[in-house]
Amino acid sequence: MNIILLGPPGAGKGTQAEFLTTFYHIPKISTGDILRDPAIQGTPVGLQIKALMDTGQLISDKVIIELVESRIQQADCTNGFLFDGFPRTLPQAEAIRSNGIFIDFVIEIEIEDDEIVKRLSGRRIHPGSGRIYHILHNSPKVPNTDDVTGEPLIQRNDDTEATIRERLRIYHQQTKPVLFYYKEWQRSGDPDAPCYILINGHADVDEVRRHIFAELKKNSQK
Ligand code: AMP
Repeated sequence: MNIILLGPPGAGKGTQAEFLTTFYHIPKISTGDILRDPAIQGTPVGLQIKALMDTGQLISDKVIIELVESRIQQADCTNGFLFDGFPRTLPQAEAIRSNGIFIDFVIEIEIEDDEIVKRLSGRRIHPGSGRIYHILHNSPKVPNTDDVTGEPLIQRNDDTEATIRERLRIYHQQTKPVLFYYKEWQRSGDPDAPCYILINGHADVDEVRRHIFAELKKNSQK
């Protein structure tokens, strides 16, 4: 099962990715998480990457495509994988296709910009596990502390309002065409086209999860 999860930052992709990867026994491949890895950020190139990430700019397609190509060679991808935050540009989407990487489903979680700003500015993360909290809607038992390990939570450098607005601007400009690309491909009737599923991301986490699984079930039977 190869899945692409698309949607603006803060749509809930990370949370839904956990449900999907657990169910299908596949790894989540988040290009953002790979880029945030201290092993990458500690290198000279990593410093440039960090500066771009902190201001919400995209990393070059070449770097991203190489990272993903080497990641999917790893042994844990034999059952498939879920891409979270990739592809974000048309050249990235085209690289997947031209490398003959078959994608079963493209799932888009749709949500409005103002809601995203509200969600992301309250987001807190446990860096060790990637567990996600929200100061209002999903707060940890002890403020600013991970429920499982008791370790401190962080706010991502790019989760401030100005950077969120910039990330959204880039999403509309660079990633919206990727959504169109997959919709058009499906519409063309090509049997290799991934099945496109559109999900309303405004509902609560459980409802979004139920909707995604219902759509996957319905479309797997076709
Ligand atoms: P994310 O964790 O998916 O929100 O990504 C955080 C940041 O990492 C983005 O704002 C970009 O700077 C960078 N990034 C992650 N994935 C990609 C990608 N597929 N293409 C380019 N830049 C990316």
